[in-house]
Amino acid sequence: MTGRLRPLPRSLDPLEDESIHGYLLRLAHQFGAAPLEIAVRTGLVVQGRGRNGIPVRLLHDLDEQQLGAFAHATRLTHDEARGLLTASLGERYGPLNARLLAEFRTPTRMTHNNRWILTKAARYCPRCLSGDGTEIEQRHGGPWRRSWRPPPVFACLRNQRPLLYGCLRCGQDTNIARGGSLISRASEAGLHPARCRATLPGTRAVCGAAWLAVRRTGVPTRPLRSPRC
Ligand SMILES: [Zn+2]
Ligand SMILES: [Zn+2]
Repeated sequence: MTGRLRPLPRSLDPLEDESIHGYLLRLAHQFGAAPLEIAVRTGLVVQGRGRNGIPVRLLHDLDEQQLGAFAHATRLTHDEARGLLTASLGERYGPLNARLLAEFRTPTRMTHNNRWILTKAARYCPRCLSGDGTEIEQRHGGPWRRSWRPPPVFACLRNQRPLLYGCLRCGQDTNIARGGSLISRASEAGLHPARCRATLPGTRAVCGAAWLAVRRTGVPTRPLRSPRC
């Protein structure tokens, strides 16, 4: 598989504690591409089989072949690629440690049969998503962190504020997706990683609220543009 995938023309360094969900969003935004397209280009999804989006189990772990292909395509080391997965939190969070709980070993069972271990909802800290002021985070936003997924975690320790659930505009999970894709609206290009990806009730329109990202003063930012950079 690795042999058939070409490395992306340019990549991004993972941010601290970034999840693969957030990393795919930032890569897609960098190329002005759909997240599903990036998932195919990086070997996470087989071309033509992505009609249901990107499997949620990829949040947790990849098999060795997928990990190798993904690292090759994104120009990351295997350790960097592994660091995007919640499986690597298992050292500190027992329920995610496959060695302690053998029956949860497969990523599919981990994410589908044991939802108390990882939240399905994309909880977030708006200050982290607003970025740290560096050019790269101004452009694509800050990290969607892995550590926001285990249910016992209810606050962002970096900013000492509770994690938010739901969009401040439409009130829905910001990443709600039919069929349980890792990323909602995975086939659509151009949405900034810090925008709400929920569908407005009764319509087919995306909410797109940029209010996930607030300035350090707590004031919502102006609507974010989505440059095709
Ligand atoms: Zn934070
Ligand atoms: Zn919304």
